[in-house]
Amino acid sequence: MLTSVAPGALAAVGTTTDAAATASSPTKPHRAAAHPTSALSPADARFQRLAHDYIEALWRLDPETAVAAGRYEFAGQLNTPDDAQRARALAFAQQWLKRFEAVDGQTLSPASRTDLGQLLNRLRGDVFALTELREFEWNPSNVNVAGQLDLILSTDYAPLPKRLRALSSRLARVPAYYRAGAASLKVPTLEHTQLAIDQAPGVISVIDDIAKAAGEPAAGLSTRERRELTQRLEAARTAVNDYRSALTARLPTLQREGQARSFRLGQALYEKKFGYDIQSAHTAAQMYEKAQAAREALLVRMAQMADQLWTQTQGDAPKPADRFAKIGAVIDKLSARHVKREDFVSEIRAQIPQLERFIATHDLLTMDASKPLIVRETPVYQRGVAGAGIEAPGPYRPQDRTYYNVTPLDGLTDEQAESTLREYNHWILQVLNIHEAVPGHYTQLVHANKSPSLVKALFGNGAMVEGWAVYGERMMLEAGYGDNAPEMWLMYSKWNLRSVTNTVLDYSVHVLGMTEAQALDLLMRQAFQTEREAREKWRRVQLTSVQLTSYFSGYSDIMDLREQRKQTLGDRFKLKDFHEEFLSYGSAPVPVIAELMAEKKAETKPPKATP
Ligand code: ZN
Ligand code: ZN
Repeated sequence: MLTSVAPGALAAVGTTTDAAATASSPTKPHRAAAHPTSALSPADARFQRLAHDYIEALWRLDPETAVAAGRYEFAGQLNTPDDAQRARALAFAQQWLKRFEAVDGQTLSPASRTDLGQLLNRLRGDVFALTELREFEWNPSNVNVAGQLDLILSTDYAPLPKRLRALSSRLARVPAYYRAGAASLKVPTLEHTQLAIDQAPGVISVIDDIAKAAGEPAAGLSTRERRELTQRLEAARTAVNDYRSALTARLPTLQREGQARSFRLGQALYEKKFGYDIQSAHTAAQMYEKAQAAREALLVRMAQMADQLWTQTQGDAPKPADRFAKIGAVIDKLSARHVKREDFVSEIRAQIPQLERFIATHDLLTMDASKPLIVRETPVYQRGVAGAGIEAPGPYRPQDRTYYNVTPLDGLTDEQAESTLREYNHWILQVLNIHEAVPGHYTQLVHANKSPSLVKALFGNGAMVEGWAVYGERMMLEAGYGDNAPEMWLMYSKWNLRSVTNTVLDYSVHVLGMTEAQALDLLMRQAFQTEREAREKWRRVQLTSVQLTSYFSGYSDIMDLREQRKQTLGDRFKLKDFHEEFLSYGSAPVPVIAELMAEKKAETKPPKATP
């Protein structure tokens, strides 16, 4: 399964740990990113100071988020997730909301105004999460210390002894952390309870890794420090195991009809969460309708292409009347064309300059040659779920490089490798590179970094980021990439159908009550996915909500915006200008970019001829 970096994680959780790139660079915790204050108007400068103060206060309130964002001076702290802590977080959000609501957005530059919008949305989303969504009452898998412990251990931000001391201090709070997490649970869902139980061994293995590092000669701890760390590791291990046992003991009750909370979010919470997370011009219900229409249009087109390719791929075989069977048969046949397993990484590496050349010769976008993308095999310790993805440094580590991590197929059996290669066949592998790298995620990031915004790097809009990558695929094909071959359009359509189906699935499951059997049929028979992919998706849709809609929502809003700009500008519409202006606002929500584009146009309109 090749998935891209989760939105938000793209820039916020930069976890680059390449020793050569980082060992010599000291961390500069208070690097004032964003805009040099001197070049700003007084209103902008005031606002940027306020935003900076908020972010610094947020790190003090929430060391977990701070560490995830690369602020390792908070590595030694860990909050206890109890009512008192949540009351503090709520008061904090409400207080900062008041301050930002008092800022007059009309006095700000576009860059600051979009930052303000992101901050207001985030704070309102925080209040919603604490007062209405209340995941701490029903999602036991959020009680998990592994991610940050692992980051602190494996990121070379400081010498090992210093990191071990920070870990020791953090570990001392782990027992209280798990007690509070357990006490906060009311009626959990069965699915998140099972997930938390399944994840416990992974937490233990991170604790083991720390114990191992502490025993190395480079650990540099005193005898007393080492003894203390060993005791704390033991207590943390016990806390994790106790938490797991308590959850396991609840399973039989939760498995009884009506005893667990449903994993389905329900319409009211879903609409609100969609509003904060996606920030679309549409409601979730409207986006679901748009996805259904897009799905039908794709299937009509795919059936036409399957007709075109029928004899070439199937010879004299009779054509099935059922369109899904017909399209599926052609896709199945074409999928046999793919690279050899040992060429997987080198083929991806070879395609990046080809994509860049295509963009240059077709005048689609400016490429920045000074920021080359480095394609590499995913470092071994990071291999796991994702097979390919962009890894960008977080805003506090601008010196780090951007990588395109590709996991080689070494570890797979012949059947597994064949299945992956058929999935990422000759055509889809190109679409994947368009999505992840050029002109997708990587190119978007390079453009966003031209007007660096700490706020957007930390709290950027995931639907814009994913939507741009999905839009890039279509835009490339429209520009003639792949020579308009029906094979390329058919495979692209299958890939695009996945994004569209994600939205249909997420809304259907969380709001409309779609069953597992219906979901698997939607994914396998009606979207041509393998059983493995479909089962993974079913699992993901039970454990997450709304995120799966970000790909299509962002894409759909961008397509609408492009159409609108064509209508408004007529002959003056230039695709390259549209792309560059769109990307110049950073990872802001598409409706906000639309507003700024409309204003800019109003400013630069030639004066009306006097009658
Ligand atoms: Zn993506
Ligand atoms: Zn094969």
